[in-house]
Amino acid sequence: MTDRNQELFDRAKQFIPGGVNSPVRAFRAVGGTPRFVQRAQGAYFWDANGQRYIDYIGSWGPMILGHGHPAVLEAVQQAARDGFSFGAPTEREVELAEEIIRLVPSIEMVRLVSSGTEAGMSAIRLARGATGRKKIIKFEGCYHGHADALLVKAGSGLATFGNPTSAGVPPEVVQHTLVLEYNNLQQLEAAFAEHGADIACLMIEPIAGNMNFVRASVPFIRRCRELCSQHGALLAFDEVMTGFRVALGGAQSLYAQAIPGFEPDITVLGKVIGGGMPLAAFGAKRAVMEQLAPLGAVYQAGTLSGNPVATACGLATLREIQKPGFFEALSQRTQSLIQGLTQAAQEAGVALCGDSQGGMFGFFLMEELPQNYASVMRTDAQRFNRFFHGMLARGIYFAPALYEAGFVSAAHSEDDIAATVAAAREVLAELRRTS
Ligand SMILES: *Cc1c(COP(=O)(O)O)cnc(C)c1O
Repeated sequence: MTDRNQELFDRAKQFIPGGVNSPVRAFRAVGGTPRFVQRAQGAYFWDANGQRYIDYIGSWGPMILGHGHPAVLEAVQQAARDGFSFGAPTEREVELAEEIIRLVPSIEMVRLVSSGTEAGMSAIRLARGATGRKKIIKFEGCYHGHADALLVKAGSGLATFGNPTSAGVPPEVVQHTLVLEYNNLQQLEAAFAEHGADIACLMIEPIAGNMNFVRASVPFIRRCRELCSQHGALLAFDEVMTGFRVALGGAQSLYAQAIPGFEPDITVLGKVIGGGMPLAAFGAKRAVMEQLAPLGAVYQAGTLSGNPVATACGLATLREIQKPGFFEALSQRTQSLIQGLTQAAQEAGVALCGDSQGGMFGFFLMEELPQNYASVMRTDAQRFNRFFHGMLARGIYFAPALYEAGFVSAAHSEDDIAATVAAAREVLAELRRTS
């Protein structure tokens, strides 16, 4: 049988760099041929060979309802009939803004954009404009999109200004970006002690999903909040992945349960708010947001911002996830996946641990949950790749890289979870035999 995935990949590679429009899709980390998706429904997608997979990526987070949810589809079709894009304001943008502000109380005003990258980049410009300061703090292993100032890794030594992680980013462009270790209180203290008066914002993924799945500890977030407040820096929560995914109010609602009165100053949203359409947002208190053009001096704009089809998709998605019991059921399903995988690994005698929150999860082929990027990267990549391909061959599609989180949707059934765990039992037994 001809492999249509391989044929398409060969064709794609002639005209698209690496054959893909976003690097992780190319399977470079795990090897093999990327699956070209033909269509998707509910918890499944079908590749170019007609092979079905249980989808644990869900477009890297947006598809929280599963693919082709009828109410969302209806809203999108209706909106498309009324026009694709106007470059003039629409009622749905107001509705979506109101909905976001109602669900995320730390946000008083919001601006819609088209991607998480754009939202993160704009949030940083806004923080710098609002504070009149230059420096920003980010953490190793957190991803906030591919804006120049954020493509940076820690230099040698503690709490240093970073080095670019991409060609084409001059060192001067990242000279104001301070890169710290996630969950490292000492480095955090040292950074504020030395640079506090110059820091515009600290940006963090409160539950990091771009180094698999790593939670910021409550004491760490508490100290981030205190130090930002003391030094007049803005605390920016990048909830592009966690927003409307780990809980209806995002990760900030979970930290607020542990830290009374807790709020970030700026929130960056994406993924679920578009329900699979290009839509993202950033929001903050009124005084900060009023610094944006046309009211203030911080410029930000977009031809397709607040796109009418995307806002219809996002609004329909947000309405569904507010139904009673939605997050309880989703959390429970996700937990049963992690429990099932952990148990299967125990039976097979393979080290595996995992964690989840709402519909987001991660697992590691190691004994203990890592707390930062360096420990995530101690995972045996070869072993992970064998696990990944074993699962893929059995019709289970996990993220094709060990440093990515996974996602369960409301469309995943008990049977889907059971089939996944059964496949994992076989693959883990094989890993054990051949290790
Ligand atoms: C996906 C992601 C982004 C970037 O969003 P894009 O829409 O891919 O540009 C930013 N921050 C976090 C935390 C993300 O997970």
